[in-house]
This record gives sequence, C-alpha cells and structure tokens, in this order.
Amino acid sequence: MKNKMYEIIWSGNKYTNSSGRDGFVPFVIVNHISASTMSSMDSWFTSSGNAVSSAHFGVSRKGELHQYVEIERFAWANGTSLSYMSKYPAQVWIDQKYTNANYWTVSIEHEGTDGDLSEEQFQASVWLHQYIRDYIVDKWGQECYFPLDDYHVIGHFQLHSWKEFCPGIMFPWARLYETFQKETQFEEEDEMNKILDYDQWAWDELDKYLGDAYNDQTITDWKWVQAARDKTLVYKDLLLLKVLIDERRRDK
Ligand SMILES: [Zn+2]
Repeated sequence: MKNKMYEIIWSGNKYTNSSGRDGFVPFVIVNHISASTMSSMDSWFTSSGNAVSSAHFGVSRKGELHQYVEIERFAWANGTSLSYMSKYPAQVWIDQKYTNANYWTVSIEHEGTDGDLSEEQFQASVWLHQYIRDYIVDKWGQECYFPLDDYHVIGHFQLHSWKEFCPGIMFPWARLYETFQKETQFEEEDEMNKILDYDQWAWDELDKYLGDAYNDQTITDWKWVQAARDKTLVYKDLLLLKVLIDERRRDK
C-alpha cells in the first residue's frame, strides 16, 4: 500500500497563522477544499495580510504535498464555534463537547472546487493521511494511534454551518474509507506473518510443546518442530497449530 513515497515541501513562513495546542494531542484529520489553486493557497497562507486562516497541509491536483503548519501546532483551519453550528456535527466533535476542533485536529486542504479529486491527488491524500497518523504515533506514542475511519477522518462541513461545501459534494468519502479499511486488513495480515517475538525460554517451551505433539503423533509433520528450533515460526502458524493440537488432544 505504501509503495510510493512522497516528498512534503515546507511552504509556511513567519506570517502563517498558528497557535499552540495547549496540551492536546491531535487524533482527527479534517478534509477541506481550497476553492482556489495550489499557488494561490501558497500565497494566501504566507501572506502578511492573512490574519484569519491556515491549514497544516495542501494537496495539489498533481499530487504534490505542501506543509504550512507543524503538526505539533494548531492551524487556523476550522473556525468551529457554537454560533456556526453544523447541521451534521461530527460524532467526535459532540464527544469533545464542542470544543474548538483546531486543538485536536490536523487539516488537509485539497486544490479544487467541488471535491472531485484527480487520481494523483487522491493517492497523495491517502498517503498523507497515513503519514499524519504515523507521525502522531512516532511523536506522542503508540497509545495515540487512531484508525483512519469515519470517526477520525471527517470533513469541514461536519464542524461548521457555512462550510456545507467543504470539502465538496464530489469528495470521494466512500473510496477513501474503503482504502483505509484495506490498509488495516493488510497491516493485520502482516502482523500474522511476522516471526514470533519470543525470548529463548519461550522458544524452548514451544519446542517442547511441539516436540511432545509430534511424539504422540498429534502432529505428523516434523517441519513445525524444526521451525520452532530454527525460530522461524510465525504467529499465523502458531495459532493454527494450537487449534489443531487442542482439537486432536480433545478427540483422543
Ligand atoms: Zn474547509
């Protein structure tokens, strides 16, 4: 899934608006549409005349990635306020008791007008979502992991009554969530194909367990015992063997 690498080009300057997060760790990504070109986004987010808005990232139609605000900081992206209550408030915002979403979100702008992303832009945005999540885990720890699902990946329209068309009626929500769901499945499969992360004593125990099962002919293939001795047994195999051995012993 993560076969293509992208470069993120730093595009903020001293005029780019941002604030401290006040101790919040971000765990939600908000998608936006720029309603302008990437170059006008670059100039607006670095303009001395802009004292109202910013975003962490921009994704161009060609799939280029620009960053204006550090993930550690709060971008002026969502303008959440009870006076501009969305008609479709995100569940996460309700759960956060309608606090200013800028504290706990990371915002991505997409170059365009209606949310109909180009293929390059879609792929780059998928990668960027994963990058942001991985960055947060690296920075704040594994307990800050969040799945890329419809709770944690939302649209601006879910936070603001005037932003009904952000990121646009054509924004590919279904495809985006499906892509992330597949990624999670692949990650789980990858985990199952990893060699057991065992200490020597645990390998010895396993060797004994499988050796006994081989000796009483509960398992008949020596390769499993050999795999335990060679320390090449993976999680998937272990699960399978445990089920098999328990079942055959019960039947005896
Ligand atoms: Zn927006």
